[in-house]
Amino acid sequence: MALPPSPAQLAELAQRFKGQLLVDETSMHPYLVDWRKRWQGKALAVALPDSTQDVAAVVQWCQQHQVAVVPQGGNTSLSGGAVPDESGRAVVVSLKRMKTIGPVDELNNTMVVQAGAVLQSIQEAAERCNRLFPLSLAAQGSCTIGGNLSTNAGGVQVLRYGNARELCLGLEVVTAEGEIWNGLRGLRKDNTGYDLKDLYIGAEGTLGIITGAVLKLYPLPASKTVALVALDSVQSAMRLFADIRARVGDELTAFELISGFCLSLVTRHFSTCRSPFAQASPWVVLVEVSAATEHTGSRDRLMACLEAALEAETASDVAVSESLAQAKAFWALRENISEAQALEGKNIKHDIAVPISCIAEFVEVASQSITTQHPGCRMVVFGHLGDGNLHFNVSPPAQALTAGSQDEFLSWQEAINTLTHDWVHHFKGSISAEHGLGVLRRDESARYKSAVELALMRRVKQALDPNNLMNPGKVLTT
Ligand code: FAD
Repeated sequence: MALPPSPAQLAELAQRFKGQLLVDETSMHPYLVDWRKRWQGKALAVALPDSTQDVAAVVQWCQQHQVAVVPQGGNTSLSGGAVPDESGRAVVVSLKRMKTIGPVDELNNTMVVQAGAVLQSIQEAAERCNRLFPLSLAAQGSCTIGGNLSTNAGGVQVLRYGNARELCLGLEVVTAEGEIWNGLRGLRKDNTGYDLKDLYIGAEGTLGIITGAVLKLYPLPASKTVALVALDSVQSAMRLFADIRARVGDELTAFELISGFCLSLVTRHFSTCRSPFAQASPWVVLVEVSAATEHTGSRDRLMACLEAALEAETASDVAVSESLAQAKAFWALRENISEAQALEGKNIKHDIAVPISCIAEFVEVASQSITTQHPGCRMVVFGHLGDGNLHFNVSPPAQALTAGSQDEFLSWQEAINTLTHDWVHHFKGSISAEHGLGVLRRDESARYKSAVELALMRRVKQALDPNNLMNPGKVLTT
């Protein structure tokens, strides 16, 4: 293994590009700890380049000195993907200073952005042009489009618009060799060989650094209706989903599952959040329909589905938004679940996906396995039912509120992960629907992927990063 570069060589790196180079512990610290404070690494330096050429200069230097590169955007990864390991031999390359947004091509419905642009700023820039950039997640005030593409981020509107991958038409990348690939094309059709951008999207920084992107824009919805429906079972939620989708089609933009226990956590921990229902129910779904133009009748068709569910007695109660404020209040019941669960105490999280048709059976058998093996555990189940992605979490037994019993609960983590992921595998699902593998799910993923799939992933890694300098130890075990 090569000796780490000397201070003189680091000084030489600082000369090679225009941006900033941080080398002291204090200024580097925020870039070395992940969002959940679960992983903390060390680094030779943190580079904050100003331009694609700067990024290329830093990567070339790292290649020359055989130094690992850890790309970082908003550092909101929930899988430990954006922070270095503890060897202290990597350079973190933060894209934060590269946040130019635009130009917008209103006729082509595209927008060119630099990788460090914060997602919320991109949404706002699109709205100023009377367009929608539909990627939407709770971290949007901090996460960057480079990180969103590198993790192929999901969020609440995947059902209608797809993941980050589907929202990107072109990429600019600095390769592991430090070359600049300009693939910033805004074409919806381009069949000229391998789709290279799709290799870098979802690669979690292990193949190269995304420095720019061409994003798809959509019409801004002219009308939006949000409804909460109290239901007796997940099966009823599936039937309602099929019925609404059949009647409103693409205007169905969100269909979120919320367990009754989740709702009670949110209303208990957030005094401004109130359930619109007089009675508690085992399950609630949040439905959102959005229409690009006024008076498409999507609201009426939604109401017809809800009335039918009430008549069939699969729904026990319904609340439909009459104002934007009420729609936001309904969404707050869904968006505050993660934080409410954290306020309740320690918890074990799973970000899984199974085929939509298997969700009801998965929830039943996996919940039963966990609560049989670990009596008293409380299931916190919510998520994007419309695209098969559930946050299938576990909170400790109600009486386990002392530190000792919470630690005993966390000692069950591995067993509960295995139980959950074995059932996910049984239903041909994914053990990481949105948050990527990073470090968190890297080893477990190797347990469920076939030898052929792992070999193909390694060959791609070998071809594009032969010296294994790009975010080593993430996604694939070395
Ligand atoms: P970082 O965390 O900085 O990096 C993430 C990964 O991408 C790392 O592997 C990093 O090396 C790599 N990377 C970053 N920038 C680049 C680049 N320019 N080129 C190449 N690689 C790069 N995720 C979802 O999908 N859906 C959700 O609903 C969701 N909700 C969240 C809610 C909260 C409160 C939090 C904290 C996180 C949530 N996340 C969610 C996870 C996280 O926000 C996403 O993974 C997001 O896309 C990460 O963006 P980032 O800019 O913070 O990337």
